[in-house]
Amino acid sequence: MISQTYEVEGAWLPFGNPRKDRCRKCGAVLVPVPREGTYNSRFWDKEKDDGLGLFYCPNGCSEESATLAFRFFHSFSHFCTNDSTPYNYKVDFSKFKSCWISPEGVIYPVSSTGHSHFARYVLCETEIKLEEDGWIKITEAPPAIENSAGSATQRQKNALFDYAAANKLDTEWVLKNCDEGFCELIK
Ligand SMILES: [Zn+2]
Repeated sequence: MISQTYEVEGAWLPFGNPRKDRCRKCGAVLVPVPREGTYNSRFWDKEKDDGLGLFYCPNGCSEESATLAFRFFHSFSHFCTNDSTPYNYKVDFSKFKSCWISPEGVIYPVSSTGHSHFARYVLCETEIKLEEDGWIKITEAPPAIENSAGSATQRQKNALFDYAAANKLDTEWVLKNCDEGFCELIK
């Protein structure tokens, strides 16, 4: 039994959870909340005669962290494959050109002028701070890589390879030039 002192991610669902609704953070299928003994048990007080029961994440993800994961994903979900979820997403290279690549090699697609907005409103950082921290910026017009920190991590290089291949760029040439600081992407 989960004995958190905080609200666990959950929902009112038909008994048995026939649709297999999942936690928005970790993707686990939601399970019934015990009537007593957990933080979420108190919400059974709100039970109505509508055939719905109380379910929650078996891994104990907090409601707060699940909401944040959900909001974060939806800031770029329109650039992902249609079957993407907050806990398992894949960017769709046909839907974007501009993006950030984190030092961990994660690609975050943005609109053509969206780098600063993503930094500020999604990560609560400034664009300059991300650049100082080694994030790579790929812009659309002119098509270019900006790598202010000057050297890419291996994971960033892997992500750049995927980006270049999907955009029919010379992958070898892109990787060779990505440590230059600024390099225009010539097809
Ligand atoms: Zn979870």
